[in-house]
Amino acid sequence: MTEPTPLDRWFERALGDAGPQHFGSGWFSGLIGLLLSAGSFAAVLVFQFPEWLTMGELRFRYPVELMRGLLTLAIVAGFFFSALNVILRPSKKLGLAGLAFAVGAVLLGGSGVEIEGVPDAPFHLGLDWLVLNFVLLSLVFVPLEKLFPLKPEQGTFRPQWTTDAIYFVVSHLAVDLLTFFTLLPATLVSQAWQAAALDMQVKNLPLLAQVFLVMLVADVTQYWVHRSFHRLRWAWPFHAIHHSTTDMDWLAGSRLHVVDIVLTRALVLVPLFVLGFDETALYIWLAIVAAQATFIHVNMRFRWRWVEELIVTPRFHHWHHARTPIDKNFAIHFPWIDRIFGTHHMPGGEWPPELGIHGEQPPGDFFRQMLWPFGKLRRR
Ligand SMILES: [Zn+2]
Ligand SMILES: [Zn+2]
Repeated sequence: MTEPTPLDRWFERALGDAGPQHFGSGWFSGLIGLLLSAGSFAAVLVFQFPEWLTMGELRFRYPVELMRGLLTLAIVAGFFFSALNVILRPSKKLGLAGLAFAVGAVLLGGSGVEIEGVPDAPFHLGLDWLVLNFVLLSLVFVPLEKLFPLKPEQGTFRPQWTTDAIYFVVSHLAVDLLTFFTLLPATLVSQAWQAAALDMQVKNLPLLAQVFLVMLVADVTQYWVHRSFHRLRWAWPFHAIHHSTTDMDWLAGSRLHVVDIVLTRALVLVPLFVLGFDETALYIWLAIVAAQATFIHVNMRFRWRWVEELIVTPRFHHWHHARTPIDKNFAIHFPWIDRIFGTHHMPGGEWPPELGIHGEQPPGDFFRQMLWPFGKLRRR
């Protein structure tokens, strides 16, 4: 069984209590209030320091007035839900923490912060990217997991949830750095390709056809890179981190070692750049990957029937994480790619009884997980 980490226990002490968690107990209002207030606080920081805290790609694309409106709404809602928690619940930790963040957001300038001509900083953290994704994804998936749970006993704050939350935070904050390393090989190869004057003309296809082709090419490449991570002895410890989770939910998919992320993404991008797809098609595909990679890990019971044959669903990817059989279902968009290469596994309407890996388990916390695969390399 997975053990809670010291950070899990710290959060449990700081914000948990023994009170009931049903609707009307003040538990959900406390969580929603804290999420919105902390998110608003971070968003005000983004408005204050855009040169340091926005993602390079997104900086000039925001509808700023709309964002200000949303931020005002989030601060008001954060106040409201946190206050509701304080009224409803004997233990007021969540509500008070939420109110503190909401007051902090207002004191820092709220949604009215002036944005002057933005100078550029030597590096940026994607705090905007983090807040947008965390608030959106948790508001969509946490209620869905509560309504249709695959494992009702699991709960949102299962052991090692803080480990996966750190992966989520770090991979979003470091988005510019990760993008830089990820794009490097693809840019170099496609420059060489263009120098040789080879043009595949895929840019001229209709956008939808391009998006489908991008998904297909990306998934076939991803399939073989992923399968190699399972097969190569030096590579497996890096990918084993992703498989070390025994509790699947919307956050569990974030658990990816940085070497795993950079190598996989970099190799997947090479054929996409060489083929020369339109930028819009690539951005649409990026949004699809982000949503689908989160979705296929959720703790949700669904029988998708014919949909399961066409696109990867949670049940398909949960079998990839099964303790037995291993090395099945490598695709992340199209399950029939596994059929073609002989690794498809979807028995009846069943879900895998047990998840995780055989053999030596990686440690449970983020920092030791970052170092663990390198230790394995050295010992070889
Ligand atoms: Zn895998
Ligand atoms: Zn996974």
